[in-house]
Amino acid sequence: AIVARHGGEPTELLQILREVQAHLHHVPHEAMVFLYEALQVPPAQIQGVVEFYSFLSTMPRGRYDLRISDSITDQMLGSRALADDLCQRLGVKLGETRADGAVSVDYTSCTGMCEQGPAGLVNGLALTRLDRARVERIAELVEAGTPLEAWPEAFFAVADNVHKPGLLLADGFEPGAALAKVFERGREATFAELEQSGLRGRGGAGFNTAWKWRFCYEGPDEDSFCPMDKRAEVQRFVICNADEGEPGTFKDRVLLNSHAHRVFEGMTVCAALVGAKRGFLYLRGEYLHLYQPLLAVLEERRRLGLLGRNIQGREGFDFDIKIHLGAGAYICGEESALIESLEGKRGNPRNRPPYPVTHGYLGQPTVVNNVETFLSAAMIALHGGVWFAAHGTEKSKGSKILSISGDCARPGIYEYPFGTTVAQILEDCGAVDPFGAQVGGPSGTFISDKEFGRKLAFEDLATGGSFMVFGQGRDPLEVARNFTHFFAHESCGFCTPCRVGTALLKNIHDKICAGHGTPYDLAELADLGKIIKGASHCGLGQTAAHPILTTLERYPDLYAARLKETVFQPGFDLDGALEVSRRLTGRDDAHAHLAQANQ
Ligand code: SF4
Repeated sequence: AIVARHGGEPTELLQILREVQAHLHHVPHEAMVFLYEALQVPPAQIQGVVEFYSFLSTMPRGRYDLRISDSITDQMLGSRALADDLCQRLGVKLGETRADGAVSVDYTSCTGMCEQGPAGLVNGLALTRLDRARVERIAELVEAGTPLEAWPEAFFAVADNVHKPGLLLADGFEPGAALAKVFERGREATFAELEQSGLRGRGGAGFNTAWKWRFCYEGPDEDSFCPMDKRAEVQRFVICNADEGEPGTFKDRVLLNSHAHRVFEGMTVCAALVGAKRGFLYLRGEYLHLYQPLLAVLEERRRLGLLGRNIQGREGFDFDIKIHLGAGAYICGEESALIESLEGKRGNPRNRPPYPVTHGYLGQPTVVNNVETFLSAAMIALHGGVWFAAHGTEKSKGSKILSISGDCARPGIYEYPFGTTVAQILEDCGAVDPFGAQVGGPSGTFISDKEFGRKLAFEDLATGGSFMVFGQGRDPLEVARNFTHFFAHESCGFCTPCRVGTALLKNIHDKICAGHGTPYDLAELADLGKIIKGASHCGLGQTAAHPILTTLERYPDLYAARLKETVFQPGFDLDGALEVSRRLTGRDDAHAHLAQANQ
């Protein structure tokens, strides 16, 4: 039934496996054999997919599958002690399934609830604001076999926590208004508005959005495809990357919860400009709670004539959007890995070029942008490029939406024009005397309190939206340690410099933190960091050493203070033993004793 519901499409493999996992609490060998026959997908691919995604398992997980976020901000709020408490109450070891199959408890990477942590997941659904009392109650509910629908609603409450709406979020939005403007202006004039706006991708890399969309619209021609593909015509796709897995980022969760029309409208504007008929929203598995509400918004847009056939009465403009759920793999936030995942494969990043904009989903021209970029594009289509470009800096136009968490009084969502200083942001969120901030998540930049005058902008501090605050008393090495473990865990294993390098970084850094490191280890960290940065295949590996390199640069004394005492007293006096030979030969070079032996 599951396969039939997904149309027997091999590209639906991950979605099918997610459902198998939800029903059987694992993906048994028999299910893989069945899927091989039903989908005609090689068994190795099925096995590879199951092993790749952390929410899938070949071994049975508990009927209650509990995962506690191990993000640094959750740790700062006491998540580790709560996980221990939970394990103790349930009589289960961390990372294992209890013998009766009732429950499993494990850590997971950031669940995107950083401002309302400590957070976790139960059977994929978000749990927020965990504390001792909630953990105790959860243990009771599990032991009683209470279905999740009967658990207290408050446990699953996810608040938006928007503290500072700005250019994009302050005003209301009428569904269809931006599309109507596009049809009024026409394609070229809308491209011109987008270009004038200076909008750059909000995922962090900052590629010019107008150029990306135009590349997709204009190329490639059909002749550039392999004739063996037998594709009658070029199809174009629009993909919204809602796989915000960067620890400390949760703004896309809020945008999808409260502004989904703007996001879907931005995708539809893109489809109108590039000529796409199909779109996907790749929703991270941790946001399962948003799946049904988003389906409802899509249905509403179909009812309003904003999706489906002949949109807004335009003969021949057909476009629809499908939601695809991820399964716990940070690397799928990388656009080519995300496309692989959408095609039902492991999320390994592709070789580039060719780029997705010409050879993306199923080898066809594809625009991939993130949630905030599509939302911004919708607002630009509505208000025009000048409206947007009037804010920000010369190279960073418009505004940036931040997810702020950590040691501050008011964690949550803040929207700022580019060019805003870190000091201003810290003041607004109620951070008292912080010693540093991580801008852009683990792959971003750690800045110390001496750098709070720096600005939010592509030309200074580029960020996908994560902004973590660290107060006095926090340990920068512990922050770097958490991030380094995260990268080692999330490395997809495709290329050696990252697969081996992140593990080595983790081990050496752990050794230093434990007080067993030497100056040699420090030098090794710096060397390894450069190698991994230069030789890795994708952005994950290229930025995996950032947490160590940036803290090493800013806090050399803290690292030095952790090193083991290295003043050794040798048990054998080599110079003394060679003294006679040196005197007899009248030499003091390394071969003096050999010369004497030959005399
Ligand atoms: Fe995979 Fe890391 Fe290589 Fe990227 S750099 S392809 S995440 S192993």
